[in-house]
Amino acid sequence: MLEIKHTLCPSCSVGCGLNVIINNGEIVGTFPYKRHPVNAGKNCLNGRNSIDCYQNKFEKAFVSKSEVDVEKAIEEVSKELNSADSSDVTLICSGSNDIEEIKAIKEFGESKNYNIAFYADNLKDFADVASYDEVAGADKVFVIGDLLYENPLIGRRIVHAKQNGAKIYALGKTENSVTFNIADETSNSSVQEFLDNNKGNIDDSSVIVFNYVDSQDDLDKIEALNCKCLPVFSKSNSKGTLGIMEAKSSDEMIELLENTKVLLVFNDDIAAELDFDFARISKIISFAPCSNKTTEISDIVVPIKTWLEKDGSFVNAMGETQMFAAAVESDVLSEIEIIEKLNG
Ligand code: SF4
Repeated sequence: MLEIKHTLCPSCSVGCGLNVIINNGEIVGTFPYKRHPVNAGKNCLNGRNSIDCYQNKFEKAFVSKSEVDVEKAIEEVSKELNSADSSDVTLICSGSNDIEEIKAIKEFGESKNYNIAFYADNLKDFADVASYDEVAGADKVFVIGDLLYENPLIGRRIVHAKQNGAKIYALGKTENSVTFNIADETSNSSVQEFLDNNKGNIDDSSVIVFNYVDSQDDLDKIEALNCKCLPVFSKSNSKGTLGIMEAKSSDEMIELLENTKVLLVFNDDIAAELDFDFARISKIISFAPCSNKTTEISDIVVPIKTWLEKDGSFVNAMGETQMFAAAVESDVLSEIEIIEKLNG
């Protein structure tokens, strides 16, 4: 029997709606969610491919690369934690976790005196961010990063701004930035130079939309400007996680990892994001729905539910809380259930 269910795209912080097609209880494809206010039926390739993780989800747990039952793997995790000094243990949580999971991970870490770290693309939270409509209605849009390619449903608002007569100033890491195609002025400079060069031009009719900075100083510079801004994260709930805990910069993350002996990674792919020699860490334990660079180097991997198999909520880049419901049933453990077992 074919069914279509509404959910949210988990592949960046824009918060687009996504429909999934279910055939006899299995998710087989995606379908436009026409009435969703964020994306009105459009999804980018990353969004359409977001079900890959569900379709390639782990069926088993792994200890030292050998398949084991989930209960056995959780027992091994408990042994590692019980034999470690709490100051040597670091938990990494992720913008891929929903609000309830972040709260549970934080509570677990604090109760055990573990280090807790959250990495949000080297970005941070801003109290007053621009809405997507404010991007589309701005007179000038300063774009840092290839938003049209990497976060296309925000890119669409930048195109709308251009159609409404706005001037677009784009900074990209390469000459091939897709965003450059609609920009009035383009630059491949550093973020600092871009902000300094445009300082006299940025006013309260401007919006800065960005998905990277070169340093934490750039974030302070953006915050000090007389205009609204919109940081766009690579993960669906980074903004929601920032409401619960502060993000660390890449330098702070590396300093913490240098002093970590047991690393627990909750639904994150930190090995893909940081330039760090993870072989320095004695034990890496991943709780993940499917394979990534971090699970490949992990000593223990415990499967968790994909977002399609659970209820939850994400907070999108402009700060709206969005609820989602399980599209299919699953008897895989959630992260909250795993934490309860570790606490037990
Ligand atoms: S822009 Fe982001 S949230 Fe929207 S479909 Fe693409 S990856 Fe998903």
